[in-house]
Amino acid sequence: MQEISEERFIDIPEEVIDIYSLWRPTPLIRAQRLEKLLGTPARIYYKYEGTSPAGSHKPNTAIPQAWYNASEGIKKVVTETGAGQWGCSLAFACSLFGLDCEVWQVRTSYDQKPYRKLMMQTWGAKVHPSPSSLTDAGRRILQEDPSTPGSLGIAISEAVEVAATHADTKYCLGSVLNHVLLHQTVIGEECLKQLGKLDETPDIIIGCTGGGSNFAGLTFPFIREKLKNRLNPIIKAVESAACPSLTKGIYAYDFGDTAGMTPLMKMHTLGHDFIPDPIHAGGLRYHGMAPLVSHIYELGLIEAVAIPQTECFEAALQFARTEGVIPAPEPAHAIAATIREALHCKETGEAKVILMALCGHGHFDLASYEKFLEGSMKDLSYTDETREKVKVSLAKIPQIAS
Ligand SMILES: *Cc1c(COP(=O)(O)O)cnc(C)c1O
Repeated sequence: MQEISEERFIDIPEEVIDIYSLWRPTPLIRAQRLEKLLGTPARIYYKYEGTSPAGSHKPNTAIPQAWYNASEGIKKVVTETGAGQWGCSLAFACSLFGLDCEVWQVRTSYDQKPYRKLMMQTWGAKVHPSPSSLTDAGRRILQEDPSTPGSLGIAISEAVEVAATHADTKYCLGSVLNHVLLHQTVIGEECLKQLGKLDETPDIIIGCTGGGSNFAGLTFPFIREKLKNRLNPIIKAVESAACPSLTKGIYAYDFGDTAGMTPLMKMHTLGHDFIPDPIHAGGLRYHGMAPLVSHIYELGLIEAVAIPQTECFEAALQFARTEGVIPAPEPAHAIAATIREALHCKETGEAKVILMALCGHGHFDLASYEKFLEGSMKDLSYTDETREKVKVSLAKIPQIAS
């Protein structure tokens, strides 16, 4: 019901608030040491979601999703995970409510991040690499390409198939859908109050976008203020140059998963069977963008930019060596864009206030840092070959008049 609700506000259940209080409110921190390193007159603030038990913003929606399922008598939930953050968050949430949890983890992530798998298992979840031979969707992909790196779209197909064929099992999604974005707005609502106390108004707000949930979580409450003419920030979504659904995709009805089992969503998409290159920011390897984020992009309420991964890791090192936090590869994209803006302020001499979503830490992404530090990380940007792959995928999306 929340997915199609027209209510302006929806109360957070008491039990959910109680669990949020384990790590919320999350800190809003001024990056003074980074400002100094860059020599910028800009004031940079980051809202840090890495203090949650799973290390990202994802528990903000995992907790209410598990709570609503448990309170309706559901015994088991299934899901997919890309970077491992969502699987961990749902596993953590299920452990609090006695729900069984089964997770399909994208193959590259399963191989690169054994500790994410172990965290999920520690919280009591069952974890499978995706594609797996446990589902029709997985078996079909494996038959075509046994060495596929997998993708979020494929993993979603597998989890949805299991939910659709078992009466006692429900599927949970960690991003993209309206109710997920709604749950994440706790980030922006808190941040509005925190900035108010500091008497600061943001000129630019920046967040990374995979499916769009941490970005929407921080920015949507600010967009409400913008629409009421109370604030006027520029809002910028940062995507991976290897999977640029907003900047290179088309706006059309498409499936949320690779096998075409989900309802159609009107969104920016690279085509549901597009398999992005295995960049290190697993959370940004999704072919589509949240319908709500796509919609406001079409309305011109936000801007978007795509950044290649080496610039992001460069930025992440600058951030870690000044602010201390080692960021996840996904928010490293937001940091790279923030640094671009801060350096622009240095040129123009403008003391702008930049607010950035630092949606998670990178403690379990250190293998990616190793690649970068030893100099073997490639950019995997949007090449001619990718363009061709996208063209082929887009030719296969459903033809529906929008
Ligand atoms: C899942 C995840 C993302 C991408 O998902 P969004 O819905 O776009 O937020 C980005 N960063 C981190 C740390 C994540 O866990």
